[in-house]
Amino acid sequence: MRFAIASPSRTLASPRRRRHAFVLTLFMIAACACVLSARAQSRDDGSVTGAAGEPYPHMPSIAPIGERIGKYMELPAAAVGPAIDPAKGYRLQDLGGGLHMITDNVYQSMVLVYDEGVVVIDAPPSFAQHIPAGIAELTDKPITHVVYSHAHIDHIGGTKSLGGRPAIVAHDETKRLLARAMDPNRPLPTVTFADRYALRVGTKVLELSYHGSAHQPGNIFISAPAQRVLMVVDVVFPGWMPWRRFALAQDVPGYFAQVEEIRKMEWETFVGGHVARTGTHADVDLQIEFNNDIKRAAAAALSSTELAAGLNPQDKRNPWALFDDYIDRVAAQCVDALTPKWASKVAAFDVYIWDQCYAMEQSLRIDE
Ligand SMILES: [Zn+2]
Repeated sequence: MRFAIASPSRTLASPRRRRHAFVLTLFMIAACACVLSARAQSRDDGSVTGAAGEPYPHMPSIAPIGERIGKYMELPAAAVGPAIDPAKGYRLQDLGGGLHMITDNVYQSMVLVYDEGVVVIDAPPSFAQHIPAGIAELTDKPITHVVYSHAHIDHIGGTKSLGGRPAIVAHDETKRLLARAMDPNRPLPTVTFADRYALRVGTKVLELSYHGSAHQPGNIFISAPAQRVLMVVDVVFPGWMPWRRFALAQDVPGYFAQVEEIRKMEWETFVGGHVARTGTHADVDLQIEFNNDIKRAAAAALSSTELAAGLNPQDKRNPWALFDDYIDRVAAQCVDALTPKWASKVAAFDVYIWDQCYAMEQSLRIDE
């Protein structure tokens, strides 16, 4: 094409040379159009605009988002916790020193019994109606305090059903978000803090601290030092793949950093707010190993995937389509790279691995 759009001095050189250039230009345009049309036809045969085309090369066997999975992978034994008595609908787990986890094996909250009353940490609506019955198994003292881990409905939306008028402790950001939501089931905090707050009740203490935005602004670490328990909700899921997109982390680099912080802290029992069982340091180490692996796999896919190589030429003026095609191929390569090692190592790998790879490649492109 270089000669066809040559400098004006050359195109003006002679009528013969101009005609020659014109004919060659036409030839090149026609040749390009033929190639593009042939490539487009090979993709378009029998397909409908907007419908699925040919699969990407090396497409993982795990179905992508939006495609039905015939049978999900079996759960590793280590991921399945103690069973729940269906007649009760909840399970209490003694964590020592008056502290108990209460769970329906999907959500987790805690209760701390002290000499004058009870502190409830989170009230997930999935089982909050059973929390008073759980407390009644331990004591007849009243709920005097509620601690909110963060503002999300699925962890504190059962607070109103606890009854009474307990003091509610949360981070400043949580109060701001709840004031905006105006949700009667999530009463506004009555005590808030910015960095640290020691909740002292009788002889017991809960150390609340803020480590910045990761899952959601205002999500706090809740430490019970005497019981050697750390609760951080929606960050580490012992034995399991995190919920989709790193548990919907609003700040993915912040999320990665918080898992590292959890590892460094001193505790023996971890309460993550989800799944059936409590966690150990080995669970957190495994999460960090996964985080490192997915970061490496997504970075490798981003750098080795060619932009527009898989795009139908008819879509070349659609930059959104261009990136959709590129990002899909990056995610496919990321899923493919992680599957051999991780498919049987964490529960529900197949459920969310595509989501995690999409979240990882996006964060690497725009956050780092
Ligand atoms: Zn949440």
